[in-house]
Amino acid sequence: MDLLYLSGTLSEAGYEINILDALAKRCSPVETINYISDYNPDFIVVLVGTISWEEDKRFLKGLRALHPNLKIIGTGDIFLDEGIKIIKENSFFDGCILDFSDKSILNLIKQLSAPSSQLSAQIDNCIYKNNENNIIAGSVSRIKGEFSLAMPRHDLFPIKEYKYAFSREFPTAHLMTDFGCAFNCSFCPIRNDNLGFKVRPVDEIIEELKYLKSMGVKELYFRDQTFGANKKRAIELCERMIKEDLKFSWYCFSRVDVINEELLDAMKASGCHTIIFGIESVNDKTLLDVHKRITIEKVKNAFSLCKKRGIRRAATFIIGLPGETEEDIMKTVDFAKDIDCSFASFNVAGIRPGTEWSHSPEKIHFLPDKELQRIRNNAIKKFYLRPSYILSRLFEIKTIHDLNVLSEEGMGIILNLLRTKENKKPKTSLYTEADHANSENIEEKEKEVQKV
Ligand code: SF4
Repeated sequence: MDLLYLSGTLSEAGYEINILDALAKRCSPVETINYISDYNPDFIVVLVGTISWEEDKRFLKGLRALHPNLKIIGTGDIFLDEGIKIIKENSFFDGCILDFSDKSILNLIKQLSAPSSQLSAQIDNCIYKNNENNIIAGSVSRIKGEFSLAMPRHDLFPIKEYKYAFSREFPTAHLMTDFGCAFNCSFCPIRNDNLGFKVRPVDEIIEELKYLKSMGVKELYFRDQTFGANKKRAIELCERMIKEDLKFSWYCFSRVDVINEELLDAMKASGCHTIIFGIESVNDKTLLDVHKRITIEKVKNAFSLCKKRGIRRAATFIIGLPGETEEDIMKTVDFAKDIDCSFASFNVAGIRPGTEWSHSPEKIHFLPDKELQRIRNNAIKKFYLRPSYILSRLFEIKTIHDLNVLSEEGMGIILNLLRTKENKKPKTSLYTEADHANSENIEEKEKEVQKV
């Protein structure tokens, strides 16, 4: 989402831009470097994340060595807590932005284009360094209420390469109707205390939808953290989609305490087929401790309302929240089966930058990582490898696309189980598993990058 919405801001300001989604295009580090060298930009805006940080670092070091005059700007969750430290310690970065939904990027580019003697002004939501390696950090400022985004350049993204388990049509595009979150869960970097919460005007979203329709997009993934956080506005959007004949099939994230019958009816009528809910745990005390502010009763009610309307329910759970035992976790898995989730995602608990936990990590205790991986694998097997579940998914197949998605999903689950069983890194990176098993491979690839 960072790069998508920055593409609109930069295009509107008159910059010539290009996008490389190296993961979707399955580019190797060398191919990525070649692509950048051919395009020869003045600035690169790179999305880096906590999960891929070690690899991002290696890659960016290589890129900087080859292109010493290129300005490299980072965006991503990793800068939320320790942006100053990261920019200071990593010489390949010229700066970073802390908010992709405002105009920070334009101010930072303008500043970094100025003669080095003038690099001193503080810019809100930006951190950068001058030639003496002095860090200049602006204040963090978040807009509240309504905000506007320039039309993002969906046309530059390889949307035909994007495949999602929940999509029912193809191709799928992402968009967001708001930014941040109205809630404050302790484990989440997107919480209100961190990013605030602001919403886009309905007219602007309708314009984006018209543009997506003209591109042949059939499926939408609304990336709001909680679709319907502002119910009145969400219903208005659904009604406008129907009125303007913007027929899409779509899915989104929401919360069990936000949806109600009126909202669900409007969502269903405008094409919504799946809602993803963050449930996290079946234990009311744990939910209270992590400030999730939902109860198991609310979960049951929301799932039943969705089921009555034929809306699929996906639930995300966190395995091993502080204080939980294996027995507690397995109760959560049983609960996922009982409430008849269409999909369940079991994620291992951890501390991410920008969360309430990251401010005092010493107070947060989890079960050992290996133990959590083992429990997670058992949870996945227990939920997915049930004949009744497999049969119900097979009965859902209506098109070749459904069949493709289901086979990829099934293979993904099996490979992931095998991978984590052997304690291998999940395949989300530019380096192969053989590279992860042997750090010399990574060094070799980096030498290759240097040669290029
Ligand atoms: S987990 Fe969801 S509801 Fe909670 S703070 Fe994060 S985005 Fe908001």
